[in-house]
Amino acid sequence: MARQRIAVIAGDGIGQEVMPEGLRVMKAAADRFNLSLSFEHFDFASCDYYEQHGRMMPEDWKSRLEGFDALYFGAVGMPERVPDHVSLWGSLLQFRRHFDQYINLRPCRLLQGVTSPLANRAPGDIDFMVVRENTEGEYSSIGGRMYEGTDRELAIQETVMSRHGIDRALRFAFELASTRPKRSLTSATKSNGISITMPYWDERVNAMATHYPDITVDSFHIDILTARFVMHPDMFDVVVASNLFGDILSDLGPACAGTIGIAPSANLNPERRFPSLFEPVHGSAPDIFGQNIANPVGQIWSGAMMLDHLGHAEAADAVVKAFEAVLAQADSAVITPDLGGQGTTETLGRAIADRL
Ligand code: ATP
Ligand code: MG
Repeated sequence: MARQRIAVIAGDGIGQEVMPEGLRVMKAAADRFNLSLSFEHFDFASCDYYEQHGRMMPEDWKSRLEGFDALYFGAVGMPERVPDHVSLWGSLLQFRRHFDQYINLRPCRLLQGVTSPLANRAPGDIDFMVVRENTEGEYSSIGGRMYEGTDRELAIQETVMSRHGIDRALRFAFELASTRPKRSLTSATKSNGISITMPYWDERVNAMATHYPDITVDSFHIDILTARFVMHPDMFDVVVASNLFGDILSDLGPACAGTIGIAPSANLNPERRFPSLFEPVHGSAPDIFGQNIANPVGQIWSGAMMLDHLGHAEAADAVVKAFEAVLAQADSAVITPDLGGQGTTETLGRAIADRL
């Protein structure tokens, strides 16, 4: 197989600390499975870069990143130094948009050795995937303010739901459900309150379902769905949602499955026309930056998703098994403080790489 090129962007804060551990494990996987991967580092998409150059990324970032097979990303944002809307819109959201990463995928799985904030939940009870439409929906920039400064002042923002946009997200979700044993898909809606776009979403779900007769499909309003995430997380397998609802569910899901430090995510261009981006769910966590106590598992698990996307399912699976085994052992000298241990980012990363 030809060499696959990965662009590495550690970004800000603990992104700088967890990325080396992610790379350590990726390199261990490449050694064990004889994968031909190369890693190229970029210092942009960080607040350091912004402070030196007055912008988050160089003018030619598109042409510099376009030829890569994947982007391995840490975290961006240091709100004390650069406002979040500048750092986020100047980097991560540009990648999502330009590289048409129209799926945001987040596995939510309660692992052995990790305590769920939900009472009486054991590993196996929580194991589902949130598929979020990542390009349109409620997060359109169509709208504006009127009558500013008067008491008639108002703000309007339109939701855009296109057949193309919805169908490609749904197709991905149904295909994913087809690969999983439960073969079940849950759609998030709110057609009782949002009376134009959400009924259209439901209509497209029903239309897509006719192509997947062996998948059980149900649909819940977002309000009751969030309650069920907490009360009955065991009832879900693949959950598909619009941009806003998906944003909410894809934070709530990993939270139910324990520490934010372990949760992974992928921003996918499933057709592979552009590079997809793999990043932990957590942000730059300025509150713990510099202490070497950040949990690296979110970065490592995101790396496993990247290996899978690059066609290395066996290696991806071995990475997952390696961190599962290390977490299950719960050696307090190895695991990080968020898991109840006294270990460091590096002790946990090394233990996982050694296990592999
Ligand atoms: P963003 O806006 O980028 O999501 P945030 O400040 O809202 O950033 P995080 O940076 O994810 O959120 O941090 C939320 C909390 O979780 C912080 O208290 C942080 O210390 C903790 N946290 C985040 N990532 C980790 C990690 N890898 N290991 C341990 N704790 C973490
Ligand atoms: Mg946040």
